[in-house]
Amino acid sequence: MEHAVVTGGAGFLGSHLVDSLLEDGCRVTVLDNYGSGRPENLSHVESSQLTVQKHDVRDTFPEFDDVDIVYHLASRASPDDFGSHAVEIAMTNSQGTERALECAREYDARALIASTSEVYGNPEEHPQSETYNGNVNIRGPRAPYDESKRFSEALAVAYEQKYRMDIRTVRIFNTYGPRMDPHDGRVIPNFLSQAIRGEDLTIYGDGSQTRSFCYVSDLISGIRNVADAPPEAAAGDVFNVGNTEEISIQTLAEVILKVVDTDSGVTYKSLPQDDPEVRRPDIFKITSELSWEPSISLRTGLERTVPYFEGRLADD
Ligand code: NAD
Ligand code: UDP
Repeated sequence: MEHAVVTGGAGFLGSHLVDSLLEDGCRVTVLDNYGSGRPENLSHVESSQLTVQKHDVRDTFPEFDDVDIVYHLASRASPDDFGSHAVEIAMTNSQGTERALECAREYDARALIASTSEVYGNPEEHPQSETYNGNVNIRGPRAPYDESKRFSEALAVAYEQKYRMDIRTVRIFNTYGPRMDPHDGRVIPNFLSQAIRGEDLTIYGDGSQTRSFCYVSDLISGIRNVADAPPEAAAGDVFNVGNTEEISIQTLAEVILKVVDTDSGVTYKSLPQDDPEVRRPDIFKITSELSWEPSISLRTGLERTVPYFEGRLADD
């Protein structure tokens, strides 16, 4: 039975990954400091195969009996946190990544690093393929996140080369679904919460900027495809994972107003500095090499997400 260590396993994506690993018979240890995640995200799990430890990945990892794979997902991911938690984020994706890679090295395990479409910054190539090196403002407000994720990838490459380890990297594009924190400030949590409360949806800028939203179950199956592929197909490699259905933020607001039964309208606020104008993954690589593609449309994914947000907001 594989033993997987999942950093950030009490977060949105991490908790769904844990569900998927347990379903497949893995033993799982979660390390999470509950900075943006919460114990409730795993409270439904009854399996004795799950161990959850409150731990900050910037600190030396605990000792284990054995480890087969380290999934390194720990990091706040909302642009709302990029300023208020800048140093924490930068260190989580640098020192924390070093700790995660050291853990994998100690147990001769493979590692899966969660990178992001933010490594492409405000892209001048569209859609973004893995060969594009990005356009990040080194000193801008998103830099503590964007640059530390870029460093995280560079450190993974350095570890592969120096220690001949099996490390795989996924560049995750905007993903949504149940267990996202309604208060974390990202656009789908904001719009769904506002629509459910009957408040106007806050569009930043004129809403012409685009994103491509992936439903969480698709994203997790993409991560698992990369992690479980044979070494010759994925070791030392990086894959975009996301949905190619590109939509403007204005249109997203209109779709959400249709999916949620609401009297809400929209209101416009200023666009944050360095907000990427466009974003869509080129997923040719993962589709052709690992036979993965997303299957859940935005409309279907939103319909599956609304009940969770209604429940969370009712508890507020
Ligand atoms: P999330 O905030 O829900 O989950 C992150 C988890 O990491 C939380 O449980 C948090 O408590 C934990 N964490 C943060 N810093 C930590 C630290 N120093 N030590 C231990 N635990 C720590 O966010 P998410 O959306 O689930 O993101 C998970 C990963 O996926 C992140 O690495 C993020 O950068 C990446 N990602 C997510 C998206 C997305 O759209 N959801 C897009 C691109 C990349
Ligand atoms: N956004 C918005 N209203 C909100 C929150 C976000 O218009 O209440 C915009 C934001 O400016 C960006 C897009 O939605 O253009 C996606 O933002 P998010 O924070 O979800 O993720 P990003 O892709 O920017 O990291």
